Amino acid sequence: MNLLLLYPEDFITATRARVTGRRLDEVNRIGSRELRVGVLDGRTGTAAVVAPGELEVTLDSDPPPPLPLTLVLALPRPKVLNRTIAAATSMGIKNIFLLNAWRVEKSYWKSPKLLHIRDQAVLGLEQARDTVMPRIELRRFFRKFVEDELPAIALGSLPLVAHPGAPSECPRNVQEAVTLAIGPEGGFIAEEIASFERIGFRPVHLGPRILRVETAVAALVGRLF
Ligand code: SAH
Repeated sequence: MNLLLLYPEDFITATRARVTGRRLDEVNRIGSRELRVGVLDGRTGTAAVVAPGELEVTLDSDPPPPLPLTLVLALPRPKVLNRTIAAATSMGIKNIFLLNAWRVEKSYWKSPKLLHIRDQAVLGLEQARDTVMPRIELRRFFRKFVEDELPAIALGSLPLVAHPGAPSECPRNVQEAVTLAIGPEGGFIAEEIASFERIGFRPVHLGPRILRVETAVAALVGRLF
């Protein structure tokens, strides 16, 4: 953990905060008298440990800038979902839509892990010394989302769908915002790719290697920005 995330309700005075549970364990584990901290959706800085679990906080910096990328992610299996949310958050992605697709197993939508994606996002923020929680939304109906909602979401950005074997290569170093769709572990089916294409998304590939979802997200972000 590279930053301890504090919540407004942790503050007992304007500059004094108290942490318990996992974060107290972390403070004790780190064992140093000074820590890097940030306030949820706010500024970052340092904190001196003045008593067990009690921190005197100085906020003097802004969190890192967000990545101009909206991620549309076919819901991966629960373990992969956890890793992908933490990784995507650590890279600065602030808008994530978890989408159903033909090759998403129905049972994934019932996973209790879906209830804890915020915890994974917190881990990603702490990893990256960020404080700004991503907005994560679930969309159970592929066509309805792609046809009715996605055009407005993608407006003004470069709309791409990552698809192995697509005719064009994923662009590098783009100087604009991107809306990026990533498929399930079995990939998007042809009709789904066609739905994306109808609203202006371009299918792009990353070379001949098939990457895991969380690796594909990292490779795409590294290449696009
Ligand atoms: N089994 C599928 C691949 C699924 S990989 C197939 O063979 O087509 C999961 C998702 O990661 C894909 O849907 C795609 O969005 C992304 N991805 C992985 N490797 C990729 C590559 N080489 N090029 C483009 N997208 C890739």
